[in-house]
Parts: sequence; C-alpha cells; structure tokens
Amino acid sequence: MHRVGLSPSTVSARVEYLLAHGYLRESGSGTSQGGRRPKLLEIHAEGGMMLAADFGAQHVRLAAVDVAGRVHTVAEFPWELAEGPARTVDWLAERCQELLASSAMAPIPARGLGVGLPGPVEHRGGQVVLPSRMPGWHHASIGEALGERLGLPVVVENDANLMAVGEHLTARTDFDHLLLVKVGSGIGSGVVSDGRLHHGARGAAGDISHVRVPAAGDNPCSCGNTGCLETIASGAAIIRTLAAQGVEVSRPADVVRLVEEGDALATTLVRDAGRSLGEVLATVVNFFNPEMLVLGGALSAVQPLLAAVRGAVYERCLPLATQSLTIDTAATGANAGVIGGGLMVLQRSLSTAGGEAA
Ligand SMILES: [Zn+2]
Repeated sequence: MHRVGLSPSTVSARVEYLLAHGYLRESGSGTSQGGRRPKLLEIHAEGGMMLAADFGAQHVRLAAVDVAGRVHTVAEFPWELAEGPARTVDWLAERCQELLASSAMAPIPARGLGVGLPGPVEHRGGQVVLPSRMPGWHHASIGEALGERLGLPVVVENDANLMAVGEHLTARTDFDHLLLVKVGSGIGSGVVSDGRLHHGARGAAGDISHVRVPAAGDNPCSCGNTGCLETIASGAAIIRTLAAQGVEVSRPADVVRLVEEGDALATTLVRDAGRSLGEVLATVVNFFNPEMLVLGGALSAVQPLLAAVRGAVYERCLPLATQSLTIDTAATGANAGVIGGGLMVLQRSLSTAGGEAA
C-alpha cells in the first residue's frame, strides 16, 4: 500500500470492486504473520474480454483480448478509412456484434472496445483532428456512436499509442521509458514515460511524421508543408516511388516481399527511409532518453530498415543517451495495437470504476 501511495481503505475498496466484478479471484491462503492468514489473489484471465480494432488506411485487425493481454481470436479485414466515419461505425459495429456472438466470447463478459486510428486523436474526447491521411475524418468522434450501438465503453486512440501500450504492458514490462515507432503506410510513434502513456497537452505527442528532413528536399506533403519525413520514409512514399518506376506494388507487404527477394531499388529506398527516420529518432532519443526503442508496423520486419535506424541513432546520439538503449522490433508483432486497445479500455474502465469504489 505504501508502494502504490494509496490508503488501506482505498486499496481495500478497489480490491473489493475487482473481486465483485470478476477481474480478480481468490487463489487460496498465504502464510500467517501473526494474525489471520492473508487471502491470496490472482488476476482472473477470464474475468472479462475486451474487443479491439486496429485500423490502418486500408485494413483493420479485430481481436478479443483478455485481462492478461492475451489475444484469443484475431482476424484481418480489408476496410478503406476513406469510406468516412459514419460508414466505418456501421461496419465496425456489425463486425463487433458478430464477434460478441461467437463462441470465443460467449461465456466471458465483454468489458469494452478499444479502437486505434492512424491519425491525430485528441486525447480526452477521442476526436480525430486534421488527419492528413484520413479524408473526411476531421472532427469525427466515433467513440460515442460505437458505444451506443454496442452498449459498451469505447476508447479511441492513435494507433501508435495503442501499440506502445500493448508492447509495454505485455512484452517490455521492465522498460518504463519506451518509444514505439510504427512504420506502415504512414509513420507515427507512441511514448511511454515513467511507465505511463504520454499524450502531451492534447494528444499530439509522438507525431514525428511531419518533421522536416534534408533528404526529402521539397517533396510536397499531405499536411501542406514540404520536405516532411513522411514523404520519404513512409510505406506510402516508398510505394509511390516504386510505382513511378513501373514496379507493381500497392501495400507495405509488397515492399517487404521485394526486399526479401533482393530487389535493389526497394532495398535502397528502404535503407534511405531508415536513415532519415533514424536521424529524426536520434533527436528524439537525445531529448527523451528512452531505454527501449521499438519498431512496429508492416515495414519494421525489414532488416535494412532496422539496421539503418540503429546506425543513425548510435552515430548521432550522446553516449549517455544510448548507453542503456535497446533498439528492437515489436515482440508483440502485428498484435501490438489490438493488445494495447484491449488493455487501454480495461485501464480506463477500472480507473473510472475504482475511483467510484473508493
Ligand atoms: Zn507533412
């Protein structure tokens, strides 16, 4: 109790709440230290299931995640976010209802839905704000509509933030200062500082996609500026350049395949992307001093990209900033976002409910 900084009555009320709602269960008695034998408690993995939807620009990954962060059922669907928020709500509500009715969920109570979107999301209201790559989504607030349709609490977050939370809470619990960079069609990052997701004042923390980099020259960017990191280092930019050379590519996965096959142009583009990304990340690492830098997203699996990022960061950072820095790909792989979505909606509902119980 001293460790968590709460009074004994608050802890007792919150534990009662968690027991009453099935998140915790008793697992026997401990050794007496003079008085009554203490009750032992454990997390009840089947005490609740959270739904999670992790959107990319053209697909969504939908999963059911338990309170321990384990993924129970997962499926990918093609979906164009360009369809707009209203149709996306209708479509996602139907998919969630199918999942809720499936055998994977049936005996376990559903606790909520976490949604990740590949754009800037205002932290408190879950509202999308001026997304450069999601036309028609400015000021869209889909959490309330989804909540009404499903009768569940809904959390809407930036996708890289969810990935950072998913990776931190399940695979990197020893690292309290962690940066997760998503390299897919776009580029984004989520910041875990002192064990907590750092949103900044409004939710824009970690958005590195529009930092100006020398190699991007005067490339026009969807944000209205020129020379942004995204115009040279994102999957979309690499696909554009390859397509202009007559190569048949449409998704980041196509780029990964080309590099694995040894295609010289794709490999050069990916290495250049990693170099520019690494230069931006060197500034971030010097400023924030993380102990873990995780690459996630479709292109993170490409070895030349990871190598180029490592090279630029170690070359340009202060030794003190990199002394205990690990750079690696996401251990949670493609599930980072859905795990984070599930655990974030769990955290949100417990912090609200626990507050009331106290
Ligand atoms: Zn830009």
